[in-house]
Amino acid sequence: MKILSVNAGSSSLKFQMYEMPEEKVLISGVFERIGINGSMYTIKYNGEKVVKEVPLSNHKEAFSILMDELIGYNVVESLNDIKAVAHRIVQGGTYYSDSVIIDEDVISKINELSVLAPLHNPAGIIGIKASEEIIPDAVNVAVFDTAFHQTMEEEDYLYAIPRKYESEYKIRRYGMHGTSHKYVSERINEILGRNDTKVIVCHIGNGASVSAIKNGKCVNTSMGLTPNAGLIMGTRCGDIDATIVTYMIETLGLRASEVENILNKESGLLGISGVSSDSRDIEDGIKNNDQNCILAQKMYERRIVDYIAKYYVELEGCDAICFTAGIGENSIMTRKGVIDKLGVLGIKLDIERNNVRGKEALISSDDSSVRVYVIPTDEELMMARDAYNLVK
Ligand code: ADP
Repeated sequence: MKILSVNAGSSSLKFQMYEMPEEKVLISGVFERIGINGSMYTIKYNGEKVVKEVPLSNHKEAFSILMDELIGYNVVESLNDIKAVAHRIVQGGTYYSDSVIIDEDVISKINELSVLAPLHNPAGIIGIKASEEIIPDAVNVAVFDTAFHQTMEEEDYLYAIPRKYESEYKIRRYGMHGTSHKYVSERINEILGRNDTKVIVCHIGNGASVSAIKNGKCVNTSMGLTPNAGLIMGTRCGDIDATIVTYMIETLGLRASEVENILNKESGLLGISGVSSDSRDIEDGIKNNDQNCILAQKMYERRIVDYIAKYYVELEGCDAICFTAGIGENSIMTRKGVIDKLGVLGIKLDIERNNVRGKEALISSDDSSVRVYVIPTDEELMMARDAYNLVK
């Protein structure tokens, strides 16, 4: 069965087509700068990458070209071969604790939740509409970033603010990156050979979050109402004293939108280092003894350690800590910095094993109290699996 996973952004459309249940990637790529001058798309097929520049005024045109390419590459004979399209939707609120087949009610709920994810949910709807028009016979499935975290208890998802802000205005912790946390926690359970596990997953990319997962269910996660909570990220501050926001507005005279921009786009690794949001540049700066990069990296690692320690206690121990996403999979320095600070819990790194990038690996020493792994994430595959399970 052929299943297409798509991730629609406001001006982009990433896609990956699978043969299921074999989980074979048939073709993948991305459309960029949709609705902007200089639009283009990249297709990866059989190990080759082709880039084409073409005007794209909207997502429907991108979908239409994608369908022509799928037929052109003989990936499908006709559009009827595509049985399902899995759409990444960021905010599913309290409505969805799992992926669902999309109908009018689902679309209206995704729309309603746009207030909580104004940059993301509307883009998801555009992707769904384009797919419905161009491949009318395919089943559309919504895969929510928040769904995996819906198993959190009240004491973990509530903020200590008056209750009406949750009951009337839906202000609470939702968490993001759920598809990745779910994928990695399922994979680690396969590796450990059991499901009654206590696992801490560190998804550390540009955006970053940590989750505590018990017996395959999320018990806590570091992102909140929005992605700007928890860890320090490339350009996001993560956890701060909430009153900094009003202080910046009332005392410094900044507008709310300026504060939002500072805390989301100018903070994190970029804000502290003054050099870059990219961890590779921070590592280069550290090699050149740049004191701001050294400080940024220390703060970055400290925050991850804080969350691992917090979740270790909440889980009452831990069977495995997993690193995933761009930095988690590739930054040997960050993993070492984090694990070395957990020595008090008996967690120990094996320097040789840690010398790995982008590959599944055990990186803790044999006498470590907790196993530590690198597990490359695969959100698109997780989406295709969910869609397959719903339509098979
Ligand atoms: P997102 O999907 O959130 O945009 P990614 O998961 O792609 O982010 O992660 C991007 C981050 O991964 C960047 O900070 C980048 O520097 C980091 N990264 C990628 N490769 C390496 C590497 N070889 N060493 C250190 N960091 C790396």
